[in-house]
Amino acid sequence: MATIIDGRAEAQKVRDETAAAVEQFRAEHGRAPGLATVLVGSDPASATYVRNKRRSCAKVGIESLHHELAASTSAAEIVSLVERLNADPQANGILVQLPLPDGVDSRAVLNAIDPEKDVDGLHPVSQGRLLAGDPGLRPCTPLGVMRLLEGTGTDLLGARAVVIGRSLLVGKPVSMLLLEKHATVTLCHSRTRNLADEVRRADVVVAAVGRPEFVGGDWIGEGAVVIDVGINRLDDGRLVGDVDFAAASERASFITPVPGGVGQMTVAMLLANTVTAARRQLAG
Ligand code: NAP
Repeated sequence: MATIIDGRAEAQKVRDETAAAVEQFRAEHGRAPGLATVLVGSDPASATYVRNKRRSCAKVGIESLHHELAASTSAAEIVSLVERLNADPQANGILVQLPLPDGVDSRAVLNAIDPEKDVDGLHPVSQGRLLAGDPGLRPCTPLGVMRLLEGTGTDLLGARAVVIGRSLLVGKPVSMLLLEKHATVTLCHSRTRNLADEVRRADVVVAAVGRPEFVGGDWIGEGAVVIDVGINRLDDGRLVGDVDFAAASERASFITPVPGGVGQMTVAMLLANTVTAARRQLAG
């Protein structure tokens, strides 16, 4: 029976470490690191996400600089705000909440963010640095996946890792981070043949598909470590991951629950990234 990975506890550790790093930053520089959030329009889910991020900032002592724009704001006007934030030394991190309203070119907005302030790690320069193995800001959810894996004590060197899903947000960056740790990585997607067989060979499985309980328990090799990134809401209101948790738990050595696993880590890593960004900017 698998050990359940406690995402809440691990996220709390990251927040505690970040709070200590914020204190140290304040002692050295006379002010706290700042995270600018930009919310465009009135989508209730986006408003909730931004509120949570701002509350989380407050808990660890990061200064939250919030900007709200009307849904009718043009891409050029959002870019102009981003450029002002790029020039603002108080804004060490810039987070533009997605999705942006219909008709706004999200890519143009995200690409306007100074890569040194790109705490979401989604700018092409950040992604390029990850690919090149250069220092830079990494995307938050993939960082959370790696932190949970580290917590299990799994030796990634030479381990067979299978990632299901090749999005820019999760699958591709997770693959690069695993490769950086010397895992042998197979990146699977909707055109992969014999997916179950690929997964069966894995020592580490990362599922980022967005399909409820898609990965069957019998796909999981005996003793594999399973990290489930998926968050899917069923018609009856329950939240489930991309992995059949009950069946996979019978075979895995470690497994993340949904909720209470990777989902807890994303905002915690955003806070950590804000401190990383602030330090990098002042190291100059
Ligand atoms: P996405 O952009 O929709 O990507 C899904 C990936 O899954 C694609 O690469 C797709 O392949 C692949 N896929 C779809 N059907 C497949 C199939 N039948 N067999 C194999 N691969 C298949 O999703 P995402 O943004 O990466 O998110 C994935 C999941 O993680 C979602 O449930 C999302 O809610 C969750 N998520 C959670 C967090 C968190 O904080 N925990 C953060 C981000 C995302 P193709 O490329 O071939 O289409």
